[in-house]
Amino acid sequence: MFEIKDLQVSFGGIHALKGISLRVEEGEIVTLIGANGAGKTTTLRTASGLERPDSGSVWLNGQDITRVSAQDRVKRGLIQVPEGRRVFPMMSVLENLELGAFLRRDRAQTAKDMDEVFGRFPVLADRRQQPAGTLSGGEQQMLAMGRALMASPKVLLMDEPSMGLAPLFVQEIFNIIANINATGTTILLVEQNANMALQVASRAYVMETGKIVLSGDSAKLLATDEVRQAYLGG
Ligand code: ATP
Repeated sequence: MFEIKDLQVSFGGIHALKGISLRVEEGEIVTLIGANGAGKTTTLRTASGLERPDSGSVWLNGQDITRVSAQDRVKRGLIQVPEGRRVFPMMSVLENLELGAFLRRDRAQTAKDMDEVFGRFPVLADRRQQPAGTLSGGEQQMLAMGRALMASPKVLLMDEPSMGLAPLFVQEIFNIIANINATGTTILLVEQNANMALQVASRAYVMETGKIVLSGDSAKLLATDEVRQAYLGG
């Protein structure tokens, strides 16, 4: 469904990705975990077409999209939920959601999707006229996810959705991720919260300084000493 092959990315002299390969099958949640600066965000941004790779390729539904523009990747259903939410604070909740559907022309289905987003996130329905900047961190994360869902994603690339949230919200966000997946969206999830990420995902890749150092079934990785010591506090 979605695949990255041998991706190399550098910023000036910094070799951020040194040959990353990973694959997400239709219907899966796969997580990419690793320490700060390992290159997780760069991997997602390159997948979305926001960074240009030195070499390697990005595939969606069997098609090489390495040279497809970021906008056309969105049209094909590859949608990123960016790190730090990036909602537009002065615009209303409703306007932020409408922006998610900016490239769509299927008005009737878009309206249905809006109803579905409000059903999934009642707090957004209650606050639809409120400026997005007045929402709490957890609510802004829901808005960022709702905006992504308004783009009609086939594959969602989520960058640290639990970052900076209170524990209660963290659990809720992971429940929502599982639920979005259960209703048919394939997910590649970047997380610092390795414990929660490994619980929600079926498979995982562990990154260190620009390389994949471990991969496999999440349950198996959760049980390995190497992962426990490095990412789960022993
Ligand atoms: P974090 O969890 O802190 O977001 P990460 O695993 O997502 O970390 P990246 O943000 O992808 O890591 O960064 C990988 C490396 O590339 C880091 O050394 C970072 O400093 C560098 N880097 C990322 N973006 C740029 C940029 N635009 N210009 C220069 N260096 C960059």
